[in-house]
Amino acid sequence: MDFPQLRAQFPTLEQTLEGYPLCYLDTAATSQKPKCVIDAMTQYYHKDNANVHRAAHQLSSRATSQYEAVRDQLKGFIKARRREEIIFTHGTTESINMVAHGLMNQIQAGDIILIDTAAHHANIVPWQELAKRSGAIIKPIPLTEDCRLDEQAYKALLKQKPAIVALCHVSNALGTLNPVNHLVAKAKAAGAITLVDGAQAVAHLEVDVQAIDCDFYVFSGHKMYGPTGIGVLYGHFDILDKLEPMMTGGEMIKTVSFDTTEFNILPNRLEAGTPPIAEVIGLGAAIEFIQNLPKAETAQREQQLLTYLQTQLTDLGNIKLYGAHENNIGAVAFNLADEHHQDVGILLDQQGIAVRCGHHCAMPLMQSLAIKGCCRASIGVYTSKEDIDRFIEALTSVKEMLLD
Ligand code: PMP
Repeated sequence: MDFPQLRAQFPTLEQTLEGYPLCYLDTAATSQKPKCVIDAMTQYYHKDNANVHRAAHQLSSRATSQYEAVRDQLKGFIKARRREEIIFTHGTTESINMVAHGLMNQIQAGDIILIDTAAHHANIVPWQELAKRSGAIIKPIPLTEDCRLDEQAYKALLKQKPAIVALCHVSNALGTLNPVNHLVAKAKAAGAITLVDGAQAVAHLEVDVQAIDCDFYVFSGHKMYGPTGIGVLYGHFDILDKLEPMMTGGEMIKTVSFDTTEFNILPNRLEAGTPPIAEVIGLGAAIEFIQNLPKAETAQREQQLLTYLQTQLTDLGNIKLYGAHENNIGAVAFNLADEHHQDVGILLDQQGIAVRCGHHCAMPLMQSLAIKGCCRASIGVYTSKEDIDRFIEALTSVKEMLLD
């Protein structure tokens, strides 16, 4: 792989900040976009702009075939059985809301919903809303001291026969990787409906929803080199087909009269209204971009960079790492001594270094770590060893400024 050529595909990375070249270590919040994604969206607006599914004219048929082709791409990308199992949403948040809302009729008072303590708020709050309305009970799955899902506690909780188990594939705050294949197998053996939040996984790992065997798998386009405003809800056909639509209106119907409405079949039944067409097309370009990368080499490179980042941070001293393991994916969480994470982030920004500081939309996780927040450095395919070196150099100067 020609790394400089790969990096040159990301125009945003070519800028300077405060006189420093931009060092972007916030890919877990949103990735930068390669030119092919930007071009695909521009091309749609320049040439093919029309609504999908609706008209007999050629522009609409061009837009529709591009839109539907991305559904086929996604089927291959995550190894779904059927194209109808892929639903376009606006992001992971909407996907999980659709599932939690759509399961309402299947959940009763007293049912248990298990949620990973490392979950993002998007994988907590929709379940809380479902619990509020149905009388179901939320139970967190605790973590071990080293921030892995506590499998002993999980086993004990599964004995209570939960109705739903919501897991993250990769934690956005820590980068820890859940062994989802066997966690899902255990949940299914206990009779639960399973959802895996793959927002932080799809850009880094090969995802096979049939191997994971979850009922639902959700992710966002913008964290996998695609545009914002587009997400995916994968659902096993049989259970997806029973999901009550959260949104109703045009496109999701077969017939409408003032007496009654008959809903459409999948996937249209869960895609009410005009979808984000340009964003779907951009996502298609992002998938192609990922699929054109040399898989093994890219994964090995990212893993080496992450290990290097973890080691460099440890060697710096006065750094507390959270849940750092060698099989983590894409991110490192840390604090500098007792300094406030926000102060560290602002001082790094003054040297052109972009990291995320805060609770990372994972307040229950922060509570379990007994911290208010932390800094997170996260990487993507375009991250270089020089980026890590510059970050460590800048953090060294921040440390000298704050601690000496
Ligand atoms: N889950 C995880 C693990 C995430 O990292 C994010 C984004 N930070 C979300 C859910 C929510 O994704 P979105 O904001 O794209 O809906």
